Amino acid sequence: MTGTARPGACEVCTAYWVTGVGRFVTLGESPERMAEIWRCRVCGAYWQVSDFSRPTVIDAGDAERALPDLREREAALGVAFPDPPALPPA
Ligand SMILES: [Zn+2]
Repeated sequence: MTGTARPGACEVCTAYWVTGVGRFVTLGESPERMAEIWRCRVCGAYWQVSDFSRPTVIDAGDAERALPDLREREAALGVAFPDPPALPPA
């Protein structure tokens, strides 16, 4: 595979923003951030998706700050997400 993926994400979810084809699950909405938190089924990356800014890869800790009940939501979905690729330090 080539290096076209966003850091911390895979090529499938990175390409989604261009192709509209991906395997995302919407985990929930953060009113505070005015954004939704999505997770890629392929690589397990968390994305913050907002009408007001570009989609951003966030780490699991940040996703949990956006959605305090993140773990419960994931457990309820019953999806076996892989561990996301490491994000480079901010
Ligand atoms: Zn992905």
